[in-house]
Amino acid sequence: MNQFKIITHVFFAITCTLAIQSKSFAEPTCLSQLKTEIKAYHDSGEYNKELTQAIATATHYIVQRAETNEKSTHPQKLAIVLDIDETCLSNYSYLIARDFADDKQKMHSAWREAKAPAIKPMLSLYRKALENHVSVFFVTAREKSFQKPTYENLKSAGYQQWTGIYFKPEHYDLPSKIPFKTEAREKITQKGYTVIASIGDQMSDLVGGYTEKTFKLPNPWYFAP
Ligand SMILES: [Mg+2]
Repeated sequence: MNQFKIITHVFFAITCTLAIQSKSFAEPTCLSQLKTEIKAYHDSGEYNKELTQAIATATHYIVQRAETNEKSTHPQKLAIVLDIDETCLSNYSYLIARDFADDKQKMHSAWREAKAPAIKPMLSLYRKALENHVSVFFVTAREKSFQKPTYENLKSAGYQQWTGIYFKPEHYDLPSKIPFKTEAREKITQKGYTVIASIGDQMSDLVGGYTEKTFKLPNPWYFAP
């Protein structure tokens, strides 16, 4: 092969390589990178900062609303609705132990262990609500079969009393928890309560009505429709 042909071949090979390298894909960030980012979000204190800010805003609103209600000539029976997981109790140590895998069996065994710690700012909100004569209801996507360990965990974490807890029905087969959670708030309303706030980390805690306000808490670890 003469020198001209060699140069031509090399030039062609370089052009092809560049063409391949410059092709852009619509691929999202790779999974291991995302896991590193969400761990950093937690470990840097940013998660706790944003969580605390969101809960402080909710607490301020609840206390103000309760004070206004007490002064009213016709006070209402006020209530708040709290989700449990990643709202009142933290499963972070379990999530990290299973490398954030969406593993139902492991999630259920964590619920049975009943050792999830309280999300501290939420425990303060809960206490403030009770001090201000606002009833507390829990509405959770945990099934009724987890009632016993859930009661045990809530109590050991500091949530000693509540007016009601709504568990997801055992054979609930809708793809979204929105209808279940909405219906639970509707039932609370039918009991004569005015739900002033629904607080949670998932969309199902926020949409569907039967609450005056909603407050979203951060949760980048999992999505539950
Ligand atoms: Mg939750």
